[in-house]
Amino acid sequence: MFCYQCEGTQRNDGILGCNTLVGNCGKTAETADLQDLLLYAITGLSSYATVANKYQISKSDVDHLVLEAVFSTLTNVNFDPKRIEDYLRNVVKLREELKQKILDFASKSNTIIELPTYSSVTYKPADSIGELVDQALEIGFDARTLIAGEDIAGMYGFVLYGIKGAAAYTNHALLSGGNIESAVNQLHDALAFLAQESTNLNDYIDWAMKVGAANYSAMESLDSAHTNKFGHPEPTQVRISNVAGKAILVSGHDIHDLEKLLQQTVGKGINVYTHGEMLPANAYPELKKYPHLVGNFGGAWHKQKVEFSRFPGAVLMTSNCLIEPQVAYKERLFTTNAVGWSGIQHIKDCDYTPLIEAALNAPGFTSDAPEKFITIGFARNTVISLADDVVAAVKSGAIKHFYLVGGCDVSTPDGDYYGDFARMVPKDSVILTLGCAKYRFNRDDLGDINGIPRVLDMGQCNDAYSAIQVALTLAKAFDCSVNELPLTLVVSWFEQKAVAIMLTLLYLGLENIYWGPKLPAFATPNILQLLESRFKLIPISTPEKDLARTLH
Ligand code: SF4
Ligand code: SF4
Repeated sequence: MFCYQCEGTQRNDGILGCNTLVGNCGKTAETADLQDLLLYAITGLSSYATVANKYQISKSDVDHLVLEAVFSTLTNVNFDPKRIEDYLRNVVKLREELKQKILDFASKSNTIIELPTYSSVTYKPADSIGELVDQALEIGFDARTLIAGEDIAGMYGFVLYGIKGAAAYTNHALLSGGNIESAVNQLHDALAFLAQESTNLNDYIDWAMKVGAANYSAMESLDSAHTNKFGHPEPTQVRISNVAGKAILVSGHDIHDLEKLLQQTVGKGINVYTHGEMLPANAYPELKKYPHLVGNFGGAWHKQKVEFSRFPGAVLMTSNCLIEPQVAYKERLFTTNAVGWSGIQHIKDCDYTPLIEAALNAPGFTSDAPEKFITIGFARNTVISLADDVVAAVKSGAIKHFYLVGGCDVSTPDGDYYGDFARMVPKDSVILTLGCAKYRFNRDDLGDINGIPRVLDMGQCNDAYSAIQVALTLAKAFDCSVNELPLTLVVSWFEQKAVAIMLTLLYLGLENIYWGPKLPAFATPNILQLLESRFKLIPISTPEKDLARTLH
């Protein structure tokens, strides 16, 4: 195996990348190799999808499979080699069916259609897992680095990982009923580009920007799907201490699953709690109306071994970030959608019956814990409605600076940077936050400025879309560009959703973004130099030094 797609990759003695029998996340070499092969096969299927799109040949089955299968390869999503093998065989089956559809169309319409000829469009999967693993060795990052060099392999990674993040957001939008047509077709185009195995660095830079555009479209669809279905998030006090009773904990990003579960648990005497990136769901009016959605339990994803062990009910993981299930809770842990771990019960088609039974059989909380609350729900609608107050506060000097401090949280003390940074931000500045990096400081009371809270929790990592809309609104109000606003972005990255968001910010022309804690292993010195010179991207240093730099 070779994998360097996330911040947690191995970095020993100058050798970068997880390349042993098991990656740092717990992904086995077998699963990693199968995922490489799956992505390779998807580039072949997407190559046909771009042709089908050109001639308006229907392919929604292809779109859905590609989104879920790509999502399964993100960090901490699917560790089950059997599920990855199934995706792989389905991808090749649909590729052949789509090819036949295109040929039938060409024949019936008397059209000459040029079909792609890349190696991945004719790839045939071997019969056994052992032979599939051998096939993977021919097409993985090791092979690419050997043939094209580490800069090309690194930029291939940048584009591929951005596609992964954008595919995940598009899949969330699809599940919530969003219109994904534009985003998914842009992703097919980008995957078809990867099928070409270009050796031109500039091609990859151009496509990295196109993936940033595709991800903007994906986040826009997701924002629209969420707000159309669940209403606009509103400022909400969320209880973060347990109440007595049977309990279900829902983690991950798929709010659609939470809604279905709330519907299926009405009147069952079960309290439902959010965890990790599901916390923002508590601020949506159409979800708040369920009285048995009682609050949030726990913090960021990397604390789940302890928190799921302590939680006396059933647990549902709807998307990333799953880590190795422990004996203490594996019998009452369930996965759904693209998530998987061998031996863990998987929910299909939103039928939560086994999860509900597991919750009823678990002891639940025996008493109420003392009440504790945090405030969330400052997505674009709420913040933009405060725009006049915010602009007045900036003009009067009451607010001097805005910081967007957020993104993924990491499992190591390196993530302390984000908590320390937020606590050191001067009292005349406002912090916008999103993603799970906020768990480093969201229980601190950092006060307010003229009634405007100093920490505005905008939601999940994909609510970077909301933050962008707020920045555009402020830029319009001050008649300047976003880069001229008194705004600094300090963005934590851990996995591929964060890569997609970074590409979107760069595509939109944002500069001087602080990025860390560790820079990606796939960003070679040449790639880093390019990012620094073209986009003025700044590796984070210490909170003190970075804050001083933003205020000089
Ligand atoms: S996802 Fe991250 S931790 Fe897991 S194998 Fe890949 S680089 Fe290593
Ligand atoms: S923000 Fe990133 S690290 Fe956090 S749960 Fe979401 S994908 Fe995982």
